[in-house]
Amino acid sequence: MNPFEFHNPTKLIFGKGKLDTLKTEVPKYGKNVLLVYGGGSIKRSGLYDRVNGLLKEIGAEVTELSGVEPNPRLSTVHKGVDLCRENNIDLILAVGGGSVIDCAKAIAVGAKYDGDMWDFVERKAAAKDALPLGTVLTIAATGSEMNAGSVITNEKTQEKMGWGSPHAFPVFSILDPVNTFTLPKDQTVYGMVDMMSHVLEHYFHNEKNTPVQDGFCETILRTVIDTAPRLIDDLENYDDRSTIMYCGTMALNGILNMGYAGDWATHNIEHAVSAVYDIPHGGGLAILFPNWMKYNLHTNPERFKQLAVNVFHIDPSGKTDEEVGKEGIQALSGFWSSIGAPSRLADYDIDDSQIDVMAEKTVRFGPFGKFRTLNKEDVVEIYKMSL
Ligand code: NAP
Ligand code: FE
Repeated sequence: MNPFEFHNPTKLIFGKGKLDTLKTEVPKYGKNVLLVYGGGSIKRSGLYDRVNGLLKEIGAEVTELSGVEPNPRLSTVHKGVDLCRENNIDLILAVGGGSVIDCAKAIAVGAKYDGDMWDFVERKAAAKDALPLGTVLTIAATGSEMNAGSVITNEKTQEKMGWGSPHAFPVFSILDPVNTFTLPKDQTVYGMVDMMSHVLEHYFHNEKNTPVQDGFCETILRTVIDTAPRLIDDLENYDDRSTIMYCGTMALNGILNMGYAGDWATHNIEHAVSAVYDIPHGGGLAILFPNWMKYNLHTNPERFKQLAVNVFHIDPSGKTDEEVGKEGIQALSGFWSSIGAPSRLADYDIDDSQIDVMAEKTVRFGPFGKFRTLNKEDVVEIYKMSL
């Protein structure tokens, strides 16, 4: 195993009724709160009123930034930075999903930076400070509630890119599975595809001797596969919602991949699609991941075989590693289709007209992917396979 340091400072507060802890967590950081949320789901669910009620009880001064878009925009980040400066904000409170939290992370570092925070996304500068950020999670998907990453779309340049900073970890995150009961079936499925994809991004690496990490990854994959069919038929099942919420956080909080970095090519390939077509991230991953796998099966068939046997229970006897690996890939895409995820770019009316534009975006920082390094030509092939 490679040497590593692990530090995750986010205080995770999990379970039914835990929203009340806002009353003890928020005052630790000050009085002036920027409440950040999305397009209105928290108003419809009643969560907005409950959060505001608790903030009122503790005498917080609340400024609001509403309307954060799925695939959050840089212009919205800029609005939030201005609000922080004008209102002397002490704490940002993000109530929503990965988009709201990612936007809030960008605001948190932007408020402490003289230039445009897009500099951090473009790797021209590194964040040195941030306002504290607390979150109330409403969708199990990204893991953003307990990691230091964020993905922002620059609508002017049609770029969607990830960035990260140790300053971007939330100081606390409140995860009450009940707050995900109102999440519709399609978004629930996208969330589960996203968390499985995070695990798969970790799983495809070339390190030796990662038996515990592999076991963690396989357990999470098996658990989502076991839980998903029940959950989509019973969206208010507390036990299944809590299992999935825990899986989403664990999939991308650094615990699965201590001592190695995963591949992360498919996320890059998907971001280029959602930058151009503004599709849901999980939907894009369901289409692209099986094709990335098919394209890379020959790189290390043994790894694909391990996934097929340990997660999809494929019987390997009398078959080559490649044959077993291929059956595993089919089992994965079959599973995603069975819960209603898309399988072709055509499902989003995407044709081949922008393939070159999208492929060019993926190599902005050069060839990429740890399991196998991909160039623009490889990405073009994967897009073609996904049409
Ligand atoms: P999201 O974009 O935050 O939310 C998707 C939709 O679900 C929104 O329309 C939202 O509506 C709705 N919604 C959320 N909670 C709801 C609830 N409880 N009830 C009803 N509707 C609800 O979804 P996400 O998958 O969490 O985030 C996706 C973004 O995160 C993408 O930009 C992706 O690239 C990024 N991402 C980040 C990381 C990371 O580590 N930071 C990792 C992977 C992906 P409202 O707007 O009305 O609330
Ligand atoms: Fe993701």
